[in-house]
Amino acid sequence: MSVDTLERYLRSKLRGDVRRHEPMARHTTYRIGGPAELFITCETMTDLIETVRSCDAEGLERITIGKGSNLLVADGGYPGAVIALGDEFKAHRVQGAEIEAGAACILAFVVRDAYSRGLGGMEFAVGIPGTVGGAIAMNAGTGADWIGAVAGSVTVYLPDAGLQRLRADELEWEYRSSGLPAAAVVVETTLRLHEAEQQAIRAMMDAGLERRKRTQPIGMPSAGSVFRNPPGDSAGRLIESAGLKGTRLGGARISEVHANFIVNDGGATAADVLGLVRKAQMTVRDAHGIQLTPEIKLLGTFEEA
Ligand SMILES: Cc1cc2nc3c(=O)[nH]c(=O)nc-3n(C[C@H](O)[C@H](O)[C@H](O)COP(=O)(O)OP(=O)(O)OC[C@H]3O[C@@H](n4cnc5c(N)ncnc54)[C@H](O)[C@@H]3O)c2cc1C
Repeated sequence: MSVDTLERYLRSKLRGDVRRHEPMARHTTYRIGGPAELFITCETMTDLIETVRSCDAEGLERITIGKGSNLLVADGGYPGAVIALGDEFKAHRVQGAEIEAGAACILAFVVRDAYSRGLGGMEFAVGIPGTVGGAIAMNAGTGADWIGAVAGSVTVYLPDAGLQRLRADELEWEYRSSGLPAAAVVVETTLRLHEAEQQAIRAMMDAGLERRKRTQPIGMPSAGSVFRNPPGDSAGRLIESAGLKGTRLGGARISEVHANFIVNDGGATAADVLGLVRKAQMTVRDAHGIQLTPEIKLLGTFEEA
């Protein structure tokens, strides 16, 4: 089946929207990225199952995304299907100290709701953009904690096994990784929180936000930290001490505020950002003998200089 035929087929089957050649710059916090061959919003579980089944059957590469806050999409786009989760995946319920959240819930809403109900445990996530699904896939966190530590279960859709509710302790949570199989789509998670004084939660959240305001280029398009911190060190410190703060390439710049952030100054291309990624890697390797590994996810084909 051609992509045209697949597009028509999915349009006839799904409740959600199916778009062709959708600019990914509309779906990333970098505001960068060429067109996705197909951009499919799955409004229901039936939509999701049909989309995954059809793409896999046709051999069309696919990726599920949240808010694109950890993505660098190539200027030439992504030659596959980008799946976004819609309404049915946005619900969240609170039972006692447990929050059940759909993968498309905005993480910040969950953090705020936990606070308003006097539930502690999510304070570390204040200021992390994106969705619950993206946070689970990435094991989002800070130096204080990560989401895997409060997850009770993660429900995923796997093409071979269907819907599976996995106990969080069955997953291999590591720094910015949940150990989920690449084919898995996170559809829901439960977060095990605890009763706490609202004032204490507020104080921790305020401190987290204050730290971000002080140390991060707030308001500039970025994807957060570009590199993982190497064991026992910080990527920002290594890049800064290699003298790269403020380095520009086209419309992209290594932030003066935090050297592990590459920001889009306006009109940056993915090639500009990747050029700075490679420059930082090379310079840090030469200066410190350390190979920095990107934390951001690269999507599509990049032409390396
Ligand atoms: C200003 C700023 C600050 C940030 N600060 C932090 C921070 O403190 N800590 C931190 O950890 N991160 C931080 N980030 C990075 C980013 O916000 C997190 O990684 C976030 O959890 C990504 O969520 P998302 O919904 O945007 O996912 P996306 O960026 O859309 O996707 C990220 C990855 O998750 C996968 N994914 C997304 N949804 C699903 C799903 N439903 N099922 C399966 N896979 C899925 C994607 O395929 C992709 O591989 C920051 C980013 C910005 C822009």
